[in-house]
Amino acid sequence: MATEKGSISIHTENIFPIIKKFLYSDNEIFLRELVSNAVDAVQKIKRLASLGQFNGEVGEPLVEVKLDEKAKTITISDNGLGMTAEEIKKYINQVAFSGASEFVEKFKDAKDANEIIGKFGLGFYSAFMVADLVEIQTLSYQEGAKPAKWTCDGSTEFEISEGSRTTRGTDIILHVNADSEEFLSEQKLQEILDKYAKFLPVPIKFGTKTEQVEDGKDEEGKTKYTSVEVDNIVNTTSPIWTKSPADLSDKDYLDFYRQLYPFSDEPLFWIHLNVDYPFNLTGVLYFPKVKEDFDMQRNKIKLFSRQVFITDEVKDIVPEFLMLLHGVIDSPDIPLNVSRSFLQADSNVKKINTYITKKVADKLAELFKADRKAYEEKWSDIGLFVKYGMITEEKFYEKAKDFALLTNTQNEHFTLEDYKAKVSPLQTDKNGNVVYLYTTDTDKQDGFIQAANKKDYDVLVMSHPIDGHFVSTLEQKLEKTQLKRVDASVANQLIEKDEKLESVLSEEQSNNVKTVFEQAINKPGYNVEVVALNPDDAPVTITMDEFMRRMKDMAKMGGGM
Ligand code: ADP
Ligand code: MG
Repeated sequence: MATEKGSISIHTENIFPIIKKFLYSDNEIFLRELVSNAVDAVQKIKRLASLGQFNGEVGEPLVEVKLDEKAKTITISDNGLGMTAEEIKKYINQVAFSGASEFVEKFKDAKDANEIIGKFGLGFYSAFMVADLVEIQTLSYQEGAKPAKWTCDGSTEFEISEGSRTTRGTDIILHVNADSEEFLSEQKLQEILDKYAKFLPVPIKFGTKTEQVEDGKDEEGKTKYTSVEVDNIVNTTSPIWTKSPADLSDKDYLDFYRQLYPFSDEPLFWIHLNVDYPFNLTGVLYFPKVKEDFDMQRNKIKLFSRQVFITDEVKDIVPEFLMLLHGVIDSPDIPLNVSRSFLQADSNVKKINTYITKKVADKLAELFKADRKAYEEKWSDIGLFVKYGMITEEKFYEKAKDFALLTNTQNEHFTLEDYKAKVSPLQTDKNGNVVYLYTTDTDKQDGFIQAANKKDYDVLVMSHPIDGHFVSTLEQKLEKTQLKRVDASVANQLIEKDEKLESVLSEEQSNNVKTVFEQAINKPGYNVEVVALNPDDAPVTITMDEFMRRMKDMAKMGGGM
């Protein structure tokens, strides 16, 4: 047999299986993409009209999502600007098909559907994640335009023919594939629309719903109600973050909060973000009441881009210490389709991060100045954010040092400056360092606290898990200041006054007691003192070296927070 040589050519015949394979985990976003396109189309016709380039009737802007379980179709309709056959070729075919092989090459290893869709501008194409046949019926706003129909089964073949649409706008009809029948459910679609489309700027209708309306009075004069079918509009077209703070009341902010987090307590306060230079960002951030299980409260900020929900994952955009905040951020300037590391390096994202930190610091400073008492009452909630911020963000520390509070065992609050002034006279050691005493457990360390108070020393409460780190931060930042737990050795030897204390025990008695205790403990780092000012006093104090204790605590916690 003669030898025949040739090369194997690889064709991308069918995009559909590839898309399905890579995008499968996130395939619900097809609806977000198609609904956003429909919204864009409506916004475009409005703009054309306002520019005088379209003189017809714009009508009531509406996007409609329809489900036909029997026919196994989902239809997304709009009364936007529509497309001519030429435009379909240009905007749909070319975008989708010209890059087919490039697409396959680039996204062989892609994990995230968002990434693919964004990079390729393939929003429309996400339809093929759930449909094995996609149909477009459209009529352009342009004079003399003819309705056009486009169909494609996900191969590189498409068909364009005369369409049947009689009014301006577009229907995208998805013939849902066998693997995606979960989407042929009213509840499922409602859920997806609630997630992604809740705040889109054009009304989105999804079926109808029954509503009770007042219908006159009955014989007893009571209001009568009847059920009527009304359009089920899934969205609020002007959510509060798109409005000016001057036009909003506290009630508006609280209502919006309840809409976002129906089962949460009222927030402590909120911050309206609104900046358009050097980047564009709007939003409302709420300070929640912090609960014990505060890990559960993380990741509650929703990120939007032009009112389209994108993600709950705002980790690199919001400073880490504010991850417990709730609310929304909307910015078209956050690159949405790039990898984590790129996002961290992005200059807009850095600026946004700094801006949010500054806004939060300014708000706290304002609350502190406006009503110190109210601020103190909220401190147990706000304190966690402030301390965390001071620990992790240099820039925030510089601002927060003026409104951070220290709380003592009498539940009195002091600013850093005031506290220093308060304790310096009595609590300065021989080397001129001011010593702040603190307790991590007011019950267990009660004896030590009482002993310290007897000597007129003040004791701060540092009992939250975060306080260990806060203590270290204060020590680094405050000059000539040391923090010692109230049971630390040095605490009892602080002041010269101590040296003059007269014990009711003889020196021999003291030494005997001391020896007994030291032998019983027999571990390094502990210190036994025996002093009794009067016969009722507990004469023995066992203290521990502050440094040793911290090392032990750190080992116990495994270093984590
Ligand atoms: P993008 O929205 O990022 O431009 P898409 O793949 O989502 O990319 O859409 C491609 C293009 O197809 C759009 O830019 C628009 O010109 C056109 N298009 C898609 N859907 C519609 C629609 N419902 N009405 C009018 N034009 C549309
Ligand atoms: Mg799009």
